[in-house]
Amino acid sequence: MDVQTFYQTLAPTPVRYLITINNKRLWVKRDDLNDAVIQGNKLRKLKYLLLHCQANHLGILTFGGAFSNHLSAVAEAGRRFHIDTHAIVRGQELADPEKHNPVLKKARQNGMQLHFVSRKDYRLKEKSDAVRQLLDRQKNLFVVPEGGSHPLALSGASEVIDEIVNDRQLPDFDKLFCACGTGGTLAGLLQGAARHRLLSTAFIGVPVLKGADFLYDDIRRLNPDSDKVDWSLVLDAHAGGYAKKTPALQHFIKRFSETFAVPIEPIYTAKLFKAAFELAENANNTCENWLLYHSGGIYNEKLLRGE
Ligand SMILES: *Cc1c(COP(=O)(O)O)cnc(C)c1O
Repeated sequence: MDVQTFYQTLAPTPVRYLITINNKRLWVKRDDLNDAVIQGNKLRKLKYLLLHCQANHLGILTFGGAFSNHLSAVAEAGRRFHIDTHAIVRGQELADPEKHNPVLKKARQNGMQLHFVSRKDYRLKEKSDAVRQLLDRQKNLFVVPEGGSHPLALSGASEVIDEIVNDRQLPDFDKLFCACGTGGTLAGLLQGAARHRLLSTAFIGVPVLKGADFLYDDIRRLNPDSDKVDWSLVLDAHAGGYAKKTPALQHFIKRFSETFAVPIEPIYTAKLFKAAFELAENANNTCENWLLYHSGGIYNEKLLRGE
């Protein structure tokens, strides 16, 4: 299928009211509903990268861990749009196909070529020998950073803001929350907000990694105009670090899934929702509308549970 035709058929994802806490009306932008596999923010971030690769007959070389939503998304995009995909995967010990988890198995089935490297080589990214050799052998590969956070990813993510601004039924949002890994999604949302001069909305990133204050620099590097908009990070909502869970987080997920018909997963969106709920509980009681960006991640969650 043609990438452009595919994206043209996508309808804006719904925004739904969720709950009022302390006069804060919380709403959800349901990007988990945009695609069954290339889901959430990954579908947004890949748009202009896929268009570029298809137009220029390039394959993709990207990076990820064994549980990466980005790898699943790129592998599926490669299958759907006939684009060659390669992934540099962290952890040489995973090279044995017997040791592949469902995410890696599925990526391989979708035609992605997996190249396993040590943690040291993984940190070096394109500068590692393994990647340099691969790029020498295959000249037609476009390198996409971890999580898809290439400058071309920002325009795709910024279209989330277009959809929100263009929906006249929605209130003006006082705050917009999103989960952060590499920060590319937040950088893209800020690009959209700057384009629409959305100066009355405060953007709040919720990093899922511990010690993520480096994201202030990374986001400014990705989007030099980010400070045209009001934005900040909540640095203490990581629940111990990437893919870590506390009993409180597990309790939140249980209560949330008993109350709302919105699926969440522990790595990104549960931390986002929990942080926003707690900020609402502890805020003063002025009336505000807050929008929570549901960035997806449900596909891998189900894959790993064997569904
Ligand atoms: C990858 C991912 C994120 C993090 O996005 P960044 O652009 O790297 O900050 C957030 N939520 C979900 C569900 C993801 O898959």
